[in-house]
Amino acid sequence: MDVLTCLGIESTADNLGVGIASSDGRILANEITTHVPEEGGIHPREAARHHADVVGDTISRALATAGITSRDLDFIAFAQGPGLGPCLRTGATAARALSSYLKVPLVGVNHCVAHIEIGRLTEDAVDPLTLYVSGGNTIVTGYEAGRYRVFGETLDIAVGNCLDVFARAAELPYPGGPAVEELALKGEKLIPLPYVVKGMDLSYSGLLTAAMGELRKAEHSLEDICFSLQETAYGMLGEVTERALAHTGKGELLLTGGVGANKRLRSMISLIAEEHGAAAKFVPIRYATDNGAMIAWTGVVAYMSGVRTPVESSFIDSRWRLDEVEVPWRS
Ligand code: AMP
Ligand code: MG
Repeated sequence: MDVLTCLGIESTADNLGVGIASSDGRILANEITTHVPEEGGIHPREAARHHADVVGDTISRALATAGITSRDLDFIAFAQGPGLGPCLRTGATAARALSSYLKVPLVGVNHCVAHIEIGRLTEDAVDPLTLYVSGGNTIVTGYEAGRYRVFGETLDIAVGNCLDVFARAAELPYPGGPAVEELALKGEKLIPLPYVVKGMDLSYSGLLTAAMGELRKAEHSLEDICFSLQETAYGMLGEVTERALAHTGKGELLLTGGVGANKRLRSMISLIAEEHGAAAKFVPIRYATDNGAMIAWTGVVAYMSGVRTPVESSFIDSRWRLDEVEVPWRS
């Protein structure tokens, strides 16, 4: 069978990513352009304007990197949700335009499914339990009977968002995760902070409020607050992940999303995997953070199992849950 080529567009939040993947499992391009707000957090409409400004160039760059032209593309994939509405709409509009101009099919991809699929590809994972931790998501998931089931998730803000907002309050550079990680290395005192695990779900808003309260009180060093914030935030993740791993008995534990770059979190995940006889697998940062390659690759696996998204059903769904998606390529 001929090798097919897919271009994928990711635009769920502050990254505009364009990736190209082929049906024989190669990533031919993965171009990312990030919108950095002048101040504060991501403003959806400003990020969307940025994406609209750069999407044409980013597509050209991806094609050049892959050494192909748009005529070599067999279909177009795009992140259909979940994410910020205006950002998603910009990516979807570009994908529809390209698909109609080239007269090739369109495949709408769930962003969270894509994080798992690219990890399975790059880390040779077959059936992992996945911890997906980023600026917008905090999910413990694994495949079971036709879908990726959510074993645990945040009830409010994502762990990465907690770190970013705290870091902004502490006047640390953006993004917050790496800055907090560096300071935490010099901390040693564990300040009691709200550790909130409800059943299998997590809550980070109370932890964020308390950590910011510690900043204002200034009774402890910033290093100790960062250390305590990390220990509490990642301890919660570890608890839920370990329980899901013990329950499912999966043999692989995959860590992905931008927060997955954290060394303290990685060491906790390694330990948990080891205790349960599972292999710990870390998705490299260029494929763990929001990127177009994961959308292109998931477009490939979906397309190969017959998934198509006609234009009339290509509207975005900013709240599209991971566990609503049929994944026929896994059954
Ligand atoms: P993403 O949403 O997947 O693009 O990842 C971005 C998130 O990852 C932001 O919340 C960052 O603060 C976070 N992040 C990046 N590097 C680290 C790190 N070393 N430790 C903790 N969080 C990190
Ligand atoms: Mg993401």
